[in-house]
Amino acid sequence: MLDTADIAEKKTQLIATAKRCFDLRLQTNAGGNLSVRLAGGDAIVIKPSGIGFNECTADNLQVVHLDGTIEPSDHKPSKDLGFHLDLYRIRSDINAVVHCHSPWATGYASAGIEIPCLTVQTIEKIGRMPLIPLSAEGGPQTEVDISPIFNDTKVKAAVLANHGTIGVGKDLMSAQYLAEIIEETAHIAYVRDTLMAAHGKTAADLPTYGTAADAKNNTGN
Ligand SMILES: [Zn+2]
Repeated sequence: MLDTADIAEKKTQLIATAKRCFDLRLQTNAGGNLSVRLAGGDAIVIKPSGIGFNECTADNLQVVHLDGTIEPSDHKPSKDLGFHLDLYRIRSDINAVVHCHSPWATGYASAGIEIPCLTVQTIEKIGRMPLIPLSAEGGPQTEVDISPIFNDTKVKAAVLANHGTIGVGKDLMSAQYLAEIIEETAHIAYVRDTLMAAHGKTAADLPTYGTAADAKNNTGN
């Protein structure tokens, strides 16, 4: 049973998150997509195909059941609907997915370079960001490529080669923060690598621990 009050609330949250992504230039044009799980657990609200993050409204967002059934809608479903649905099926802890084509991260992904977790915040909040190659056919990644990576419940973020980023979370804000941290880390990595190259440096220390408390616990102090 769909709860109309819950649908209205989740749509409001999704529209606010999409606007924030657009304002931060994590996603312009009509690419990317984001979704949130409804209270009953077996349906989601998702941005449809052809609608920009800045143009999401309560009227154009779609409600889709985890079995793929789409509630009546004037819009085409997102090309990435399949991997969103599968992430909710395989991970009960995932209640929101934000997928962007943010430029710094996608630049790394298109160069075939995994974004290094080089700040203490990235270590603490993400831990690792697997780079998922293009599909076997050479096209966009689907659930066949993405779900095996997210079967590991420690994975909260991934980068899709020649495509974009995925952040997941217990709610939309958590998933959005990860989308922002992925992009921020890629930007920092680019600046670091450029500076190191310009100054003839070949290696720089990366953090082992994300928090001072972790570091302390592991040195026995
Ligand atoms: Zn995409």
